[in-house]
Amino acid sequence: MTAQPTAENHDHWWVYTGPNYDALHALPRAVVDPKNADAVEEFRNAGIQAAVACSATDTWQWAGIFSRLGLPRCDGCCDQLGIPRGTGTPDNGR
Ligand SMILES: [Zn+2]
Repeated sequence: MTAQPTAENHDHWWVYTGPNYDALHALPRAVVDPKNADAVEEFRNAGIQAAVACSATDTWQWAGIFSRLGLPRCDGCCDQLGIPRGTGTPDNGR
């Protein structure tokens, strides 16, 4: 169970944003190269401004463990990726 852009996560980071932190959105892998440790650390510390799969643009934060388990995935992001709507990161298998 990870926020990282693994195959199980459909090659997207799963992120959220304030003030409500009420849904997980899919941030394309290309926005933050998971093999670039400095870029990943910067993202982890400061978030990143970018567009997610549903076209929303914001400053996205790395979702914490309870959010990765319990938050609903954004319907728009799921539809763009062609995956079922549901709860938690896709690699949770739900
Ligand atoms: Zn979204």
